Amino acid sequence: MEKPDVVVVGSLSRDLVVHTSNRPRVGETVIGNSFNMYVGGKGNNQAIAATRAGACVEIIGKIGQDSFGDIILDVLKENKVGHKYLFRDKNLNTGIANIIVDDHGDNSIVIVPGTNHALSSHDVDSAIEIISSTKVILLQLEIQLATALHAAKLARNSNVTVILNPAPAVEDINQITDLLKHIDILIPNEIEASVLTGIDISDEKTAFQAAKKLMNYGPKTIVITLGAKGALYVIDSGEYTLIPAYAVKAIDTTAAGDAFCGALAAHLSQDGNLERAIKFASAAGALAVTKGGAEPSLPLKEDILDLMSTKVV
Ligand code: ADP
Repeated sequence: MEKPDVVVVGSLSRDLVVHTSNRPRVGETVIGNSFNMYVGGKGNNQAIAATRAGACVEIIGKIGQDSFGDIILDVLKENKVGHKYLFRDKNLNTGIANIIVDDHGDNSIVIVPGTNHALSSHDVDSAIEIISSTKVILLQLEIQLATALHAAKLARNSNVTVILNPAPAVEDINQITDLLKHIDILIPNEIEASVLTGIDISDEKTAFQAAKKLMNYGPKTIVITLGAKGALYVIDSGEYTLIPAYAVKAIDTTAAGDAFCGALAAHLSQDGNLERAIKFASAAGALAVTKGGAEPSLPLKEDILDLMSTKVV
């Protein structure tokens, strides 16, 4: 087996999306307008994003022995994501996200983690072959914290760069302080950084304050993504650098963060330079907002390079 550039330890799910003009109230039944199913889960999306961005990627995760699991596996295969350590649980269902979108574009989401919460430290141990030989490991918070922590520790022991996208946001930073000690690069978005630090992020200065606070917990590099305002990074608490966003026409911002994290991990694993990786990731994030959906909007390396060569930031 080829040595991976990036190993993702994370969630995979089937997203069930209903569009309806009227959101049902308690006890009410309404007729919706459309229904679609997509592959999702932050682990799945970031693994696909990193592969399309040019890296050799392996995913460590857990799906069920059900039809949703089959579909997720097919999409990973189509995208050439390595799945030797994608486990299948015969007792639990594949994770799902039940998403209701109304005419204003506002959504309500129920996530049932299913097999994602059954991915164990033992499963991670069995994948030591790829964890110890990869350059970068990429984690999020849609699996059990104990499992993510175990993966981070194993990777650190092998001098692998550990990246955490702390999404979805956790209300209390104390829940993840142990994990943060083992993280090299932390990539929160504006909301996650605000919730973790209690700092209301309204501009570069407040984002810088939040980044400095987050550094105290262990990560030496903080990258805060600020949507259309770009991404700010801090490697030395004395100063910050803002990488402006590429000017694009935003259609649907879903998965911009996943595209950014996957592309950053991919580029860093091959080039090693953080600022160049963030510029590449910013172009990937920008392209992701120009198309609808999550997986369909994750861009290919050639399109990312194309945007970088033609657009003035
Ligand atoms: P999330 O999806 O986690 O909320 P962000 O919205 O911060 O993440 O987006 C991640 C990155 O994608 C941003 O830092 C930026 O580089 C890029 N991006 C996001 N939205 C836009 C946009 N409207 N225009 C251009 N780039 C964008």
